[in-house]
Amino acid sequence: MQLNELVLASHNAGKLKELQDMLGEHVRLRSVGEFSREEPEETGLSFVENAILKARHAARLSGLPALADDSGLAVDALGGAPGIYSARYADGQGDAANNAKLLQALREVPEAQRSAQFVCALALVRHADDPLPIICEGLWQGRILQAPRGSNGFGYDPLFWVEERQCSSAELDKASKNQLSHRARAMQLLKQRLGL
Ligand code: IMP
Repeated sequence: MQLNELVLASHNAGKLKELQDMLGEHVRLRSVGEFSREEPEETGLSFVENAILKARHAARLSGLPALADDSGLAVDALGGAPGIYSARYADGQGDAANNAKLLQALREVPEAQRSAQFVCALALVRHADDPLPIICEGLWQGRILQAPRGSNGFGYDPLFWVEERQCSSAELDKASKNQLSHRARAMQLLKQRLGL
């Protein structure tokens, strides 16, 4: 697929920069905020469904091909929770409350059963009604710690143990996280699909 401009279904300048850095200079990302502040309803039950909803919405608002990401943490012992509700797991009280709620939910779960993955779904649509979206999912396998470690990153990073580096995700520097993360893995797959 030949593309040189994509609208990113996000108003977050940090996310746009991170994804643009990963994508490289061949495709320019523009924020959907240039076109409208209208938010889509995220009614899907999976990361992929919500990424597609967001991408279609951004394509509709902009009239351009659109890319959306949806990400979160899926903990095996909790049936995949907090999953698509990761950002608002503790009812919108923020990262520290989300982490405290997760530790509480796992308080009786032994080490061997604390496996989890960060998940990132990317969806690219050529237009709002595209019947054939490109879907790429990146998974980053890890384990949930018993207490937070580190102060880099955001969200659940302080509770996510990265086996290959023997540290938490919040103890990784930005460059290392951007090589290993679920977003990096999904973006790598997307670049392959786009021939970049
Ligand atoms: P979003 O894709 O920015 O909406 O992310 C949803 C939520 O998932 C965030 O608010 C975090 O709670 C969690 N999350 C997603 N990616 C990461 C990550 O790389 N580190 C820590 N938490 C993450």
